[in-house]
Amino acid sequence: VIILAIESSCDDTSAAVFKDEVILSNCVANQDVHKAFGGVVPELASRAHQQNIIPVVDKAIKDAKIKKEDISAVAFTRGPGLMGSLLVGTSFAKAFALTNDLPLIDVNHLHAHVLAHFIKEHPEDLDQPKFPFLCLLVSGGNSQIVMVKNHLEMEIIGQTIDDAAGEAFDKCAKVMGLPYPGGPLIDKLAKEGDENAFTFSKPRIDNYDYSFSGLKTSFLYFLRDQIKVNPDFIENNKADICASLQKTIIDILMDKLIKAAKDTGINQIALAGGVSANSGLRNRLEELAIQHNWVTYIPKFAYTTDNAAMIAINGYYKYLKKDFVGQETAPFARLEF
Ligand code: ATP
Ligand code: FE
Repeated sequence: VIILAIESSCDDTSAAVFKDEVILSNCVANQDVHKAFGGVVPELASRAHQQNIIPVVDKAIKDAKIKKEDISAVAFTRGPGLMGSLLVGTSFAKAFALTNDLPLIDVNHLHAHVLAHFIKEHPEDLDQPKFPFLCLLVSGGNSQIVMVKNHLEMEIIGQTIDDAAGEAFDKCAKVMGLPYPGGPLIDKLAKEGDENAFTFSKPRIDNYDYSFSGLKTSFLYFLRDQIKVNPDFIENNKADICASLQKTIIDILMDKLIKAAKDTGINQIALAGGVSANSGLRNRLEELAIQHNWVTYIPKFAYTTDNAAMIAINGYYKYLKKDFVGQETAPFARLEF
């Protein structure tokens, strides 16, 4: 089975080609236009997708060394995401399927982030989570603990009630005057700092849910108070501030994950989403794995941020169930998990 997959939910235009579970190509065009604005500008994202989509799909097909005639089905991200961005990928996928008489498969972007663990670079790759497993999905728009029963059945057992973890990184970075997206920069600066230099408030929530807006506020007030006394406070303590902030975010994430693993008795633990690139989070997960006898899984960096490879693998599993959609299918910005 050869799947052509398209991802355009936010600010990356991506196309991938898979042969069953094995990746043949994965092309991503990032959009630099948003840098100057400190965040993704939806209208600019849609326009950039329109410019990128044809060259990106063309390259994915060429890199995969297949012919258009070899394709068995077209998978696309239906949501959640930015409406204008989703429309470009969805419209392209529908047109491609119609003109080439191919079945069409809609994919939930968040399911796909979780299924990134099943992408094979070689047919013999077998290092994959065993069902059921817990997946901490931490990205720019989401923070949730997902119980994954099989490739197509998964359930959120806890999620953020306000900001996502990536958003917390990015918003706090903005407060510090760092450019967007701040997450990777905080990670880099944190490496040189003392994570116990400062403490920030953590939410008190009983279930597996997260909250990061309190941390953001406490971080903002802390910096404001310090700057009143010492205008160079941020500049002089950059690494320590980043390390302490990062530690707090990781503490918040891990407390609930430990609780969920204990309560469910599941020891297969996976990370997914852009924030799983964070080196502090990766290190902590490895420490916890030893302490709690977890078997942990983290996808390769290229498959943690937005990419069409994860859409292709999800599309493949849906293809096996003949779970197709028709031309009337519309993108859905707030698609439910
Ligand atoms: P969603 O999938 O929820 O719609 P998204 O696709 O925009 O969101 P991703 O691309 O998965 O999100 O992740 C982007 C986020 O990951 C950004 O908030 C970014 O700051 C964060 N991020 C990336 N690398 C790191 C890092 N090393 N440390 C911390 N955060 C990081
Ligand atoms: Fe994403």
